[in-house]
Amino acid sequence: MGNHVALPSLLELSQEDLEAIVVGLDQPAYRARQVWRNVYQRYAMDFESMTDLPRELRRRLGERIRVAPAESVGQQTSDDGSTTKSLLRLDDGELIETVLMRYDPFGERRARKTVCVSTQAGCAMGCVFCATGAQGYRRQLSASEILLQVLAQGRITAEEGSPLTNIVFMGMGEPLANYAATHEALTRLSDADGFGFAPRRITVSTVGLIPGIEQLARDHPQVSVAISLHAPNDALRTRLVPVPTATLGQLIAAARSHAKTTGRRTSFEYVLMAGINDSPEQARELAMRLRGLNCHVNLIPINPSAGVVGERPSQAATMRFLEQLVEAHIPATVRVEKGRDILAACGQLRGDREEGTAPG
Ligand code: SAH
Ligand code: SF4
Repeated sequence: MGNHVALPSLLELSQEDLEAIVVGLDQPAYRARQVWRNVYQRYAMDFESMTDLPRELRRRLGERIRVAPAESVGQQTSDDGSTTKSLLRLDDGELIETVLMRYDPFGERRARKTVCVSTQAGCAMGCVFCATGAQGYRRQLSASEILLQVLAQGRITAEEGSPLTNIVFMGMGEPLANYAATHEALTRLSDADGFGFAPRRITVSTVGLIPGIEQLARDHPQVSVAISLHAPNDALRTRLVPVPTATLGQLIAAARSHAKTTGRRTSFEYVLMAGINDSPEQARELAMRLRGLNCHVNLIPINPSAGVVGERPSQAATMRFLEQLVEAHIPATVRVEKGRDILAACGQLRGDREEGTAPG
């Protein structure tokens, strides 16, 4: 920390900006491309590790800029090795969490490694079942703070010898309530000269902010969208998602027009809570509303945490709900769970040190 705290992050720079810095140090421009490759292809997190650069240049770059605009202060991996949660401390002391999930259903050939990024410290939406919501809103993350999470997790997978394959904006916060930074991060993530992820491998999950969904369709038509529904009718949804977003009818219309303009299927997320929204009747009501839509429903049995509403439905109730949707020809799956033992599952990210997060 110390006097390096205020240095600008390389993740905020364009290639031209970086080149100007390198040339300003009386170095040839190709050195800037080398630095760029180190970060965006090899996931280097500091200049020290860029051993293809002269030591002196690494030192001088480190006096002007830094790579990571935060400090890693803790990391935990689940007992089964599938999930790693990293805690980052930002310059102003805010703590945010990012999760790496490894799926290996059919052996290495089909292995998937997904990073789940946060877009805000806390969240203002106050969904009653969500630990981030319970924490309240703290602040927006910058694009470089979002990109850093991909870099940090990509660093781990690079060391494991197989790359990150997917990115989901499903960590702390509401991405479409931080549109500017989300947009900038998506641009750099999908830029062939940046991280180079196919936009189809990126998913933005939203509580349902319609202007943001429309803007996203214009700016990033190939990026996948997931809309968090949680209820088959407005009466129940407003109890679960207290911040006024849009009506279910408006959300479904937005999904329809998104699917039409982008040609992509919309995903819906539905957090299942015992006795609240998990009955077969509610499943049928949901199916009726979604009929004819190019969509997919992700059922997420709630991960209960202290201080939030909702208990886990039984396996039987979950399966019954799923069956009702499938029988009504609504494509649906139950989300495979990851990292419950380290509180790294959906809705459990809090960014504080009280709930089992490793001390830094
Ligand atoms: N704010 C966005 C994205 C972050 S939340 C959104 O709400 O979509 C990502 C997903 O985790 C959402 O679908 C959200 O409903 C779900 N989630 C929140 N709390 C949860 C919990 N306790 N258990 C399971 N899923 C939860
Ligand atoms: Fe915010 Fe999403 Fe949690 Fe709701 S579910 S409080 S929108 S992070």
